[in-house]
Amino acid sequence: MLRRAGLSLRHFLLERKSNAGYSSYSSEAKMSRPVQARRLEGIDKNIWVEFVKLADTYATVNLGQGFPNFPPPDFLKEAFARALGGEDHALHQYTRAFGHPPLVKILAQFFGKLLGRELDPMTDVMVTVGAYQALFCCFQAFVDEGDEVIVIEPFFDCYETMVKMAGGTPVFVPLRAKAPKDGKLMSSADWQLDPAELASKFNKRTKAIVLNSPNNPLGKVFSRGELQLIADLCVKHDVLCISDEVYEWLVYDGKEHIRIASLQGMWDRTVIVGSAGKTFSATGWKVGWAMGPNRLLQHLRTVHQNSVYHCATAAQEAVAQGFQREFTLYGKPDSYFVQLPKELQQKRDWLVQSLDAAGMKPIVPEGTYFLVADISAFKSDVPDVPNSDESYDSRFAKWMVKNKGLAAIPLSAFCCEAHKSNYNHLIRFCFAKEEATLKAANEILQKWKQEKTSS
Ligand code: PMP
Repeated sequence: MLRRAGLSLRHFLLERKSNAGYSSYSSEAKMSRPVQARRLEGIDKNIWVEFVKLADTYATVNLGQGFPNFPPPDFLKEAFARALGGEDHALHQYTRAFGHPPLVKILAQFFGKLLGRELDPMTDVMVTVGAYQALFCCFQAFVDEGDEVIVIEPFFDCYETMVKMAGGTPVFVPLRAKAPKDGKLMSSADWQLDPAELASKFNKRTKAIVLNSPNNPLGKVFSRGELQLIADLCVKHDVLCISDEVYEWLVYDGKEHIRIASLQGMWDRTVIVGSAGKTFSATGWKVGWAMGPNRLLQHLRTVHQNSVYHCATAAQEAVAQGFQREFTLYGKPDSYFVQLPKELQQKRDWLVQSLDAAGMKPIVPEGTYFLVADISAFKSDVPDVPNSDESYDSRFAKWMVKNKGLAAIPLSAFCCEAHKSNYNHLIRFCFAKEEATLKAANEILQKWKQEKTSS
């Protein structure tokens, strides 16, 4: 009689346990067994949680997390408003699980033209919850226990944790910085792979390499020669390439974004990852995609259908219309993909000038909306603590937001634990900000410099 005297099953079991004499009766039965799955060990801390909170609490100028504080283009917002307010009620309901048909069709058409090959919208393109989920699908779909995945450092931090969560081992290969000549500012192009070092990381266990060009955090745009080096090794060792190209339109100074999938032998082994958030300055919409041959994408679909299954329909419809517009305006002055990098290059130049004038040496990015700067000249303001567990750049970024109101992200967030000391003199700023925000950042930096020179 479980329901005797109104007792629930839980109370009945608890009472029985307490009567058995091995536990006192309490209203709460605490679990004593470990609840965390082993694959989460060591990846539970996340720098973004801490630094986003610090920026929210202290920053008057937030150049930390990577998102624009200006609006997406009107044509995109209007497309979303039409999708929500229009007659087509189907846009409020589920759409095709692997991508809203209008979106996968225009993505296939648009990128097919760029890649010089016909893409099947139903098999070669998959829409995801931001590029983040496309990456997650790749690692879950391809990486087994014991597999190695090569990650070029510094890297977007989730690559490491996603490889680990899939049971794989990330193998890091750093970009090595060469000092610029003649007192010139360093450029992200001065950071290069050592070909012999890269080659030494490939072996029988290597399943994939993650390429991110343009690269977050440095803003490096890989040259054709560098991509060919990676492609040759992928082909030689029969390795997959996960090519994160979310900043593909954000390239400056006439540089060209080259898609590694367009190099010989690479289409068949590459998944391209893209993001409408970065492409149309609408990171909150979380529309992304994966693109590649059906042979690879069929496995991503398995992960997708067993995790999120489906992404927001109205946002997909609006992004489809955005791409439709860009398809007709491709390469023309009115194209958003032409205008956005123009505006951002100007913003990059402002921030380069501000930082240089303040003595915080910028590494001039060739792409993305990030800029890495050297804080070595500011060590007297935030002295190092010997034998501290926390790396210097992290303590510096915390001090800066609390004392100067300026938020940035320490570069040790973008490297593996063993290499943190290589990056602890660097912090990353995001310059996808309104002019007024960048001016306010400049005021903070110049005032800081004055205080330093007068003290
Ligand atoms: N890849 C890189 C390199 C990124 O910087 C980001 C976002 N910061 C993403 C992927 C994730 O993009 P999304 O917001 O579309 O998920």
